[in-house]
Formats: sequence, C-alpha cells, structure tokens
Amino acid sequence: MKAVYLTEQGAPDVLKYGDLPEPEVGPGQVLLRVRAAALNRLDVFLRAGARGQRREFPKPHIPGCDIAGEVAALGAGVASLQVGQHVVCNPGVTCGRCEYCTSGNDNMCEQYRMTGVARDGGYAEYVMMPEENVHPIPDDWDFGEAAAIPLTMLTAYHMLITRSALKPGDSVLIMAAGSGVSAAALQICKLMGARVIATASGEEKLRRARDLGADVTINYRENPEFAAAVLEATGGKGVDIVFDHVGATVWDQNYRAMKRGGKFITCGVTAGYDVRLHLGQLFSRQLTLMGSFMGTKAEMRQVVKLMERRAIHGVVAQTFPLRDASKAHELMESREFFGKIVLQP
Ligand code: ZN
Repeated sequence: MKAVYLTEQGAPDVLKYGDLPEPEVGPGQVLLRVRAAALNRLDVFLRAGARGQRREFPKPHIPGCDIAGEVAALGAGVASLQVGQHVVCNPGVTCGRCEYCTSGNDNMCEQYRMTGVARDGGYAEYVMMPEENVHPIPDDWDFGEAAAIPLTMLTAYHMLITRSALKPGDSVLIMAAGSGVSAAALQICKLMGARVIATASGEEKLRRARDLGADVTINYRENPEFAAAVLEATGGKGVDIVFDHVGATVWDQNYRAMKRGGKFITCGVTAGYDVRLHLGQLFSRQLTLMGSFMGTKAEMRQVVKLMERRAIHGVVAQTFPLRDASKAHELMESREFFGKIVLQP
C-alpha cells in the first residue's frame, strides 16, 4: 500500500512517500481503508523529535492520529461493524484491564497507545484498528470533515464537560482560536449555552472564531496584556473557565483572567512549560488548575452522537493529497490557517 512514513526525525522532508506492507488484521481488529487523516500538533512533534517524542526507528513508522474511512475487512470475532461502513476512529488504544480502564478512566490507561504515535497511524491507504476504537458515522459525512473531529473534539469534550463541569451561562476564555482543539471547544461551549471570549493572532482568525459563535474576540498579538480586555468583557469579574494549550507565554494573563473560584485547564503546551505560580492567589481566589489528556471511550460515543445529529462539524483549513504530507506539515508549522489540515490518500 502507499504510505507516508518516518525512518528518522527532522524537518518536514523526512516524511517519505512509498510502499509499505498492508497491516495484518488479527482477532477483534478491523482493517480500514483510510479516506482522510487529519494532522495534529502531535504529528509535528513526533516528526521533529520534539517535546518528548525523540525515538529510534527499528522499522518505518506511519504517523496520523485522526482517521476517517471505510471498513475494508473484519478480523475474527468482530460483530459490531460491517464491510463498507463509513467510520471515524478513537485514536487511543487501551489495555481494558488496568484500574483506570476498568473504572471508566481509560484515557489514563497505564498502557495507553496513541494511534500514529505508539502504533502505525493513518498516513496510509490502510490502517488496522481495534473494533472498540471504530465508530460508524452517517454516509453523508465528508471524510475530511469527519477526520477533523476525533482528537480535538474528544479532548475539548473531556476538558470542558467532564473536568471543568461546564454549565450553561458560564463564561469561557479560549486561547488561540485558530487551532483545531479551540475550534472544537468553541462548538462545545456554544452547544452548552456558554459565553465565549476567544483570542487569536490575527483578524481573519478572529472573524472565523466569531463565525463559530465567539461572543468576544481579542487579538493577542496586538494586545498581549489581554487579561484587561477579558475583565472588561466580564464586568470586572473574569471568566469561569480558561481553556489553554499555549502555555508559558499566556500564563500570567490567563491567571489574571480567571474569576474567583475559576478553573484553568490545559491539554498541552506550544509556547513554554515553565510558569511562575502565585500560591497566595491560588488559595485566596480559590482557583482550580487542571491538566487533561484526550478523552474516554464513553466520551467518544457522545462525540459520535453529536456527529449523527450534525450538532458539530469538522473545521477543515486545507486538504492535501497524501504524497504531499511534508507540505501539509510546513503549513502546520506556519500557523497560518484556521482549523484542521487534512491528508487524503
Ligand atoms: Zn488500561
């Protein structure tokens, strides 16, 4: 099969396009014909060997966490799917046995393996997935739009609904609204009747954020002291929830922007890990700081229900043919796009 793979880490041109063997399907597994794979920031870290993703390649590795496609073949014992069905995948493969898996917290699984990172992913014509990670979707969903959903929507769902207990009427500050996870968060906030203040680095991204329902938008490139604007937009109180994946460069402003009793939640860092924490303010303002990673299998089912009802949609910035994966990575690194970048085999 045709695939894009890594045999070393480095600049975008280490992504090779060529022929690799089709995956073999064992019991309980499903062979999918990939129709679209969406990029995530994680793909760039893995390719570059950055952010804890340094590794050796005893065999070629196929990246790609977010996959939409068609069921091509079923392994022994697979009963919930049929050949030809259109599907999206939950990229998180878990053991099903540890204390986290058996308590419904499978995104904390001790043997969590991310598709495209710890196992071969979707930059290929075919991929193998466990049955439990494969979810049918209506046939009228565009594959590129469907591939744009799982990782970001699952992450945003877990952060907002489960961890932050988002309520109708809450105010949420969403960092870097041009990113896939923020576009997902914006949609969840609007479904829940929350008020959204979104930041982005340019006017076009702010306009797109308003199209997705952002109530207030702030250009943080022009206004790096954006906490003042957040306080002004909330009657001096601050927001109930700060939704972040940027990190150190916006930390001080995010900390200031929380209201008393407010919550800060992060799912990643693109601009620095180390921050200064004022413990006095943490207790006196009764703030909550939370970290989050992916989402559970139960939450993925909720996301698919939202897809069935067309209550959410995938935000696709640009689509590339699979062989141009390195160009797609260059665009990802430029940050000059809104939503998800998609590859199509
Ligand atoms: Zn487990």
